[in-house]
Amino acid sequence: MNDALSVKNLFVSYHGNEAVKNISFSIERGNLVGIIGPNGAGKSTLLKALLNLIPKDTGEVQVYGKKFHEQRKSIAYVPQRSNIDWDFPITVLDTVVLGSYPTLGWFKRPKKAHRDWALQCLQRVGMEDFSKRQIGELSGGQQQRVFLARALAQKAEIFFLDEPFVGIDAASEETIIHILKELKESGKTILVVHHDLSKVSDYFDQLILLNKELIGFGAVNQVFCADILSKAYSGQFSFLDRLGVEV
Ligand code: ADP
Ligand code: MG
Repeated sequence: MNDALSVKNLFVSYHGNEAVKNISFSIERGNLVGIIGPNGAGKSTLLKALLNLIPKDTGEVQVYGKKFHEQRKSIAYVPQRSNIDWDFPITVLDTVVLGSYPTLGWFKRPKKAHRDWALQCLQRVGMEDFSKRQIGELSGGQQQRVFLARALAQKAEIFFLDEPFVGIDAASEETIIHILKELKESGKTILVVHHDLSKVSDYFDQLILLNKELIGFGAVNQVFCADILSKAYSGQFSFLDRLGVEV
């Protein structure tokens, strides 16, 4: 059986400056994977390059053994909240209905069935009562839950989320991580860019530790240890110490 995601020799640069380099890894289906590393380590860049949103210098990405464009429908992306235009005039329900467009096909208008499915997805994230609101009127946690509902509506096999827990309330964080764990139990694959190290062990099965290059990759208990973390977070030992990681 093919890996859910396989990345080989990925290099990405901005105006000649390498942002990520020489990245190779593969992930089996049914894993919840954290992408961690210091600010500017290239975490968002890695995600965007995997999703074909920015050009790669070199590198090959396969999803279930096929090229990205052949698997578009099975790939869901929840971008960083700060990169979304929240003034865009759209209701919560329509935001989620749009998530099911990849399965609608071109030129087909959403039907009642799509709206019902979108409502079910909103229900799953506890946002069904907000379906008629404008997305800009919601709190950060509510917005994030709506975007997760949108990804769920897509019926994707592999999910990419960029810093979904930043600037949201604890209850929304709990709802979201609970759903991500359910997704993984049902065989989906989820990659989450995450910079708060304190919950890494509770949340993830595997870690990708990045600092331009791949510093560590594997099961959380193999990567989340002082000697490997310190290679990425050089000079930040006091911070590792605070996390209770033995230095
Ligand atoms: P992270 O998500 O880990 O904080 P990023 O992937 O956002 O890191 O950024 C990696 C590096 O690439 C940083 O040095 C950042 O300044 C640079 N960078 C990111 N986006 C751009 C861009 N659009 N143009 C030029 N440089 C960029
Ligand atoms: Mg980022």
